Amino acid sequence: MENFIVSARKYRPDSFKQVIGQHAITSTLQNAIKNNHLAQAFLFTGPRGVGKTTCARILAKTINCENITDSTEACNQCESCTSFNDSASFNIHELDAASNNSVDDIRNLVERVRIPPQVGKYKVYIIDEVHMLSAAAFNAFLKTLEEPPPYAKFILATTEKHKIIPTILSRCQIFDFRRILVDDITDYLSYVAENENVEAEEEALHTIAQKADGALRDALSTFDQIVSFSGSKLTYKNVIENLNILDYEYYFRVTGALLNADLSNLLLIFNEIIENGFDGQHFMTGLGDHLRNLLLIKDPGTVQLMHASPSLKEKYTTQAAQCGVNWLLAALEICNKYDLSYKTSNNKRLHVEICLMQLTLTGQTAAPVQAVQKQAAVVRPGRETQTLPAQNTPQAVQKPMREDKPAYEKQQKPKLEEVKKGTEKPAHQAEKKAVVEGNGRKIKNISIKDSLNALKKNKPQEEEAAEQILTTPFDQEKLEACWKLFTASYQEKSPSFASAIAKYKPVLKDDFVIAYKVDNKIIAEDLLNVSALLQFLKKELRNNQLTLTPTFPEKNEKKTAYTDREKFEQMAKKYPDIVKLKEQLNLELGF
Ligand SMILES: [Zn+2]
Repeated sequence: MENFIVSARKYRPDSFKQVIGQHAITSTLQNAIKNNHLAQAFLFTGPRGVGKTTCARILAKTINCENITDSTEACNQCESCTSFNDSASFNIHELDAASNNSVDDIRNLVERVRIPPQVGKYKVYIIDEVHMLSAAAFNAFLKTLEEPPPYAKFILATTEKHKIIPTILSRCQIFDFRRILVDDITDYLSYVAENENVEAEEEALHTIAQKADGALRDALSTFDQIVSFSGSKLTYKNVIENLNILDYEYYFRVTGALLNADLSNLLLIFNEIIENGFDGQHFMTGLGDHLRNLLLIKDPGTVQLMHASPSLKEKYTTQAAQCGVNWLLAALEICNKYDLSYKTSNNKRLHVEICLMQLTLTGQTAAPVQAVQKQAAVVRPGRETQTLPAQNTPQAVQKPMREDKPAYEKQQKPKLEEVKKGTEKPAHQAEKKAVVEGNGRKIKNISIKDSLNALKKNKPQEEEAAEQILTTPFDQEKLEACWKLFTASYQEKSPSFASAIAKYKPVLKDDFVIAYKVDNKIIAEDLLNVSALLQFLKKELRNNQLTLTPTFPEKNEKKTAYTDREKFEQMAKKYPDIVKLKEQLNLELGF
């Protein structure tokens, strides 16, 4: 292990053929090399870890190779190639703009560009993270980028194309590297695993690939990390433990329990998840994803949107067959609602549990009646032994639930009756009420909702009040007093606006129109502050029909001619003969 090389380096592609998932780019580059149509400057953009720098290096090596192969790859044997492979080539210069972003760094580089290559044809400058260059550095670089010596090629790489100034963009041939597909990463990982003599489960590699979010480099480092932990056998279990991923099995179980309206089992599964160290939100988002996958797999058109190994897809197909589309949509909506409000909840655990209850209720509308009864019986103290099939809910299953959350027991009673009547909504309300009764800690949680509802109810009244028309009469004196009051109170917020307004005299006209003369258009057009002034006056004068009308100074001011053309035009206006003179003498205007 002393010579351990990380996989991302060991398996770094050294030919175009080996680059994963960027076929369009590599073949374009190869064609350009073959036809000798290489641009002077390239911009490689795309997310991190997708092969930008790797492609830049391969390009640099290939164009310097002395015997490029028929498939437009470097021969890996000539002097230039070997020095490249030993990282000893003088023809490649890499600059990390993240740490060398000053003008001096770029000037240094520009200096070096002047010296032609001693061996090989081209000198290649790779500037990584080019968006980090300072504005001055960019400018220092422009000239060189525009007219580089024929032997110089620039490859700029960046993850953030939008930060590159247009003058640079227009001088580069742009290549957009895309995220590498999960399947491509999985394939590559299994190739690496085989080479490293690691026995890997397909599911394990798939999960790593998924977590890498399109970045092969990340996938390879994760692979290394887990292999160093688990040895030559890489299992799905190792992976989820290491990456802190919640096993998809849980979601299959949860969905199964939802479909059977088996609330007790649901709460137990959730308890298990919490005990394994995952937090509620993690579970909620995961459940949302799971339901989404079930929905996607139902339609052949959307299957491609879900990323899962073939065996997992089969599992999804089986479960999806048991779920109706309407139920999935309703469940997704509930999940999303509770996911959004998770952060504001005081009792996170209860929050998720209520979500599960709601989901169970949604399931009941689709589930057979006996399932409803069964679920109700589970939580109804004293009755379970009569109604329940013994094999489905052993005593042990019910016990912890009753001890932990007495709230649910109370809550179920009204719920059941409501459900039997076939109304879903009152059941939900009963549930809330029960929660309050059962556990004092949750009162706060519920009261937020209640007060929000109360707020909603009050809102229309407030709006009505605002819409009332107020036309309290006021006179010039009162207006001026209010005007002064505003300028004094607004001094802190915007001193310039307040003092400008203080200079103007408001004049009350008919229909509550307030006219005021401004000497500066900017003040009258300062909409935010003007509106503050208007609101202030409306409120103070108790009149919401008043309007502000600024008047601008008449345009009788003398226009000063600044440029030569303006001077000429002014002169021509005054003495039209000048134009004739200009025409007769065939004079050209020099401006
Ligand atoms: Zn070569």
